[in-house]
Amino acid sequence: MPVGGRLRAALARSAELVSPGHETGSKRAMVGSELVRSLRRELSGKRALVYASEIARFHRAKGSSDYLRAAQYIREKLMSWGIDRVTIERYPIDGKKTYGTWTPPPAWEPVRATLSLVYPEERPICDFETEPMCLIFGSTSTPPEGVVLDVVDIGDGESEDVYVTRSVARKLVLTSGAARSAFLNAVRRRGAVGVLSDHMVHEDSSIGRTRYDLPDAVNYASFPVTHEDIGRMALGFSLSHRQAEELRSLLKSGPVRVKASVEARLFPGEMHVVTGLIPGEAGEGTDDGEVLIIAHLCHPKPGANDNASGCGLAMEIARALSQGIAEGRLARPRLGVRFMFVPEMFGTMAYLDRHPGWARKVKAGVNLDMVGESRDTMSCANLVPTPWSLPSAVNDVAAFYMEMVALRGKMYEGSQVTRDWHYNVTGFTAGSDHYILVDSSFKVPCVYLGHWPDRYYHSNMDTVERLDPEELLRIGLVASSIALTFAAADAAAAQFALNLVDAGARDRIASAARASCEAAAMCREPARRVDIAKALEQRLEVMVDRELAAVDGVVKLVPAGDASRVREMARTLKSGIRATARAARAKVELFAGAFREASEEGKLTGWQSGRREQLARTDDDEAASGAVYVRLFKGPLDPAYLYDRVGEKRRKQYEERQREDPDFQLKLIEAVNYMDGKRTLGRIAALVSAEFAGFTLDDLKGFVDDLERAGLVRRK
Ligand SMILES: [Zn+2]
Repeated sequence: MPVGGRLRAALARSAELVSPGHETGSKRAMVGSELVRSLRRELSGKRALVYASEIARFHRAKGSSDYLRAAQYIREKLMSWGIDRVTIERYPIDGKKTYGTWTPPPAWEPVRATLSLVYPEERPICDFETEPMCLIFGSTSTPPEGVVLDVVDIGDGESEDVYVTRSVARKLVLTSGAARSAFLNAVRRRGAVGVLSDHMVHEDSSIGRTRYDLPDAVNYASFPVTHEDIGRMALGFSLSHRQAEELRSLLKSGPVRVKASVEARLFPGEMHVVTGLIPGEAGEGTDDGEVLIIAHLCHPKPGANDNASGCGLAMEIARALSQGIAEGRLARPRLGVRFMFVPEMFGTMAYLDRHPGWARKVKAGVNLDMVGESRDTMSCANLVPTPWSLPSAVNDVAAFYMEMVALRGKMYEGSQVTRDWHYNVTGFTAGSDHYILVDSSFKVPCVYLGHWPDRYYHSNMDTVERLDPEELLRIGLVASSIALTFAAADAAAAQFALNLVDAGARDRIASAARASCEAAAMCREPARRVDIAKALEQRLEVMVDRELAAVDGVVKLVPAGDASRVREMARTLKSGIRATARAARAKVELFAGAFREASEEGKLTGWQSGRREQLARTDDDEAASGAVYVRLFKGPLDPAYLYDRVGEKRRKQYEERQREDPDFQLKLIEAVNYMDGKRTLGRIAALVSAEFAGFTLDDLKGFVDDLERAGLVRRK
């Protein structure tokens, strides 16, 4: 959903507002369209593509020598471009060491692997040398001469019944389901030697992404290995659907035997985080802060879009900014710009764990994950904002730059501009490194720029041919513009951001009111209309707090000398936002018509009143609603950590809830974010349900009980 026309008009005003300019040394720090124009002269999508292609040559398993080689390649490049303090930090990974609630699996070093059919026919099936994706992550060595194994088909492996009729011990199971569950059920619990799987995650027929559409795709699969798997033999191959179907059809007429030969080591090792800094004008030793560009470096070869693209683009941004500043075309920003290349989520968590003061210094972040998708990936660029629990101007600034880059299009006559980029601004999602950073124990306002869906995601078809230099350039312009705007951190940048937050806030409030008015107008029951008005009132209360907090965040960016002017402006804008919310409420009351009369009669029905009844249903509930909990862990909760402690039955229940409600995990993430040792559970449930409809106190209570049982929270 691109930014509306009203915002665009506001932006035109913003350009005037900012243009008086702000001199820093010899060169003025730019913001807005002027910044995008000048970055267009610095950044190259083709260079980003070259760096991404280099990274795609490495099989980037955490702790492997190929991952380290990719990290060293990035380090060398960053150093050659004059990036400061370039280091590769090392963090132990042995399957026991935990960062927050995140336990990285032991290091894994694949060396060679082959699989061939030996009965009823003899022929090779796959070879790690030519298709590294074929060896399931976490597989370990066979004896050097290999092992000959019977294959047994377990279907999707989800039902227990299949194991009643089939013995899997000392065999290889063939599954259309996830390698993970076959590993747990067949290998761990029933003594199978390994797994063959043609499972494809996120099948989506609308983009031609099913095993039938892509019968030769070999999918990225991994075993949930722990320290206990070190020294044990367990192996697995990811097969294409075609290969798996051939085995299935042979199995129909009799036994099938294969020979597997694997050399791969699971061991206590280290994972690596590459980082470097373009220092700010404020210089070393000051605590003025940084802006972050982060990309995850792990994943199998080629992993071109996921995520050689993010790393290659982060490298190109580092080069372009460093050289542009050194050669005087770009002003050195007041704050530094840090670049970080990590094992996804685990590396970010480990870095935050080792550098406890650092998160406070990071004023804004951009996570680049899957940024180069060509058209044939059937993908779409997305801007994922911070969650409601972490209000920040970075969301509106990022949306502005998306719009700016999209509006580049051809000019026909006069000032007519066309949009030549299709993108979305989504709600908050988890699943990549921004999710670690935005957690309320770190509070780094980090947006996520990426693509979704992707036809070739997590398969051997995610190759460098599917990287588009134009798309890399577009995302690169957005990311570097965000970085330089927040790194400028001066009065001009603050005014620019304030204008955007204000315009965005008014848009969001107006669209919430518009939706409520529409619902009220369509609704035939007066009492139900009252609910609609009430619901909006509650939602607006949370929305306005969030907008005002984003405004306050901008004021904090500015050095003390300039702050009073910005603070004055912020104060005026804040009262404008409050007035907008009042007007929105009045409009919805108007559409809801009989609002006052009906509420006086106490005729509340529907979800709104249902929830209210629920909040005060029993004494127990009342107590729960007023209870306050303190978090005892940092970073977001790794669901695996919780499931390990509350058992398989609860895990299944959580998974069931997630199937019914795709936002369920996000709601739990936000509930944790709001748990600050002051808010009551009732308040947290209300905050979460303002962001995502349909979160009940019961949901929250069950979750908090589990957290308490796992020793993750304490009742105050
Ligand atoms: Zn990724």
